[in-house]
Amino acid sequence: RLYNEVQELKGNIRVYCRIRPYLSGENKKQSTIYYIGENGELILANPTKQGKDGQRVFNFNKVFGPTATQEEVFLDTRPLIQSILDGYNVCIFAYGQTGSGKTYTMTGPDSSSETDWGVNYRALNDLFQISQTRIETFIYEVGVQMVEVYNEQVRDLLANDSTQKRLGIMTTSLPNGLAVPDASMHTVQSTLDVLELMGIGQTNRAVSATSLNERSSRSHSILTVHVQGMDLKTGATLRGSLHLVDLAGSERIERSEVIGERLKEAQHINKSLSALGDVIFALSQKNTHVPYRNSKLTQVLQSSLGGHAKTLMFVHINPDVGSYSETLSTLKFAERVS
Ligand code: ADP
Ligand code: MG
Repeated sequence: RLYNEVQELKGNIRVYCRIRPYLSGENKKQSTIYYIGENGELILANPTKQGKDGQRVFNFNKVFGPTATQEEVFLDTRPLIQSILDGYNVCIFAYGQTGSGKTYTMTGPDSSSETDWGVNYRALNDLFQISQTRIETFIYEVGVQMVEVYNEQVRDLLANDSTQKRLGIMTTSLPNGLAVPDASMHTVQSTLDVLELMGIGQTNRAVSATSLNERSSRSHSILTVHVQGMDLKTGATLRGSLHLVDLAGSERIERSEVIGERLKEAQHINKSLSALGDVIFALSQKNTHVPYRNSKLTQVLQSSLGGHAKTLMFVHINPDVGSYSETLSTLKFAERVS
């Protein structure tokens, strides 16, 4: 409860920056990261300009350097998970250019050792653990949906037939709180159940793709966890939800470089990421008009963005000199919404 009061004061949007380490084969000598402060300060250095002129200072709620572990990155997310069981809606985003570590943060690397687990698994694990501690007073039911937004179309990643059927979005909230009522809902009892479903989702994501990596970098994947709790004494019910969103790569694509299908994809990604930025910006400014309507992504997430909902954005960058301009544009996006 104290946490919620503190959050109310600080606002419900938090932005964390994570810098991934160099990968083998990358030139480790050059880095665009000049300084990482304890209090969320980050100084980016332009490789072509020496000294202060080439530096730019950013401030976030926190900056995780290349050596931060999965556990450390998750630590501050923990209180949010508890609030879902108290009836809050939470959205956690991974933003950044392709290859910057979004999937690493959310899912983890392919190896499935527990120390490598990403935010998704840890969040679900906590959710089940905390609900166990309340078992005498509350009974919780947990259901999961997983959809993909690709070219402004919503597709069920957990459907039995994994068809290409486009799903509709409810823009006014249903009593059951579902934004995509036709996406299949799967009741889960444990983290393992969720792991299994996520595996199915990943496989279905690849079905229509020429290459898994290519497709997954050009679509948004949204894992939604619905929690319904009943107070055993009073019979009162509450509802909370968690959206775990691995966004499409934010890299800008030169118009001259792509044509046809790739151009269309790039335009859809651009549109939806800027719509997301506009929504979060409007919320951070406490604007009365919040432009949810401008993309499918923001429509799907509407009931979980704003109001009492809590938003956490992990913004990813890589230290490579060759990515300087993308890194700068990623940090500018993050700065605007924080
Ligand atoms: P994205 O999802 O943004 O395209 P990935 O998560 O796939 O990027 O990361 C790209 C590569 O970098 C992968 O090989 C991944 O394992 C590695 N990587 C990303 N972040 C980290 C990290 N924090 N520590 C170690 N390796 C990382
Ligand atoms: Mg990825």
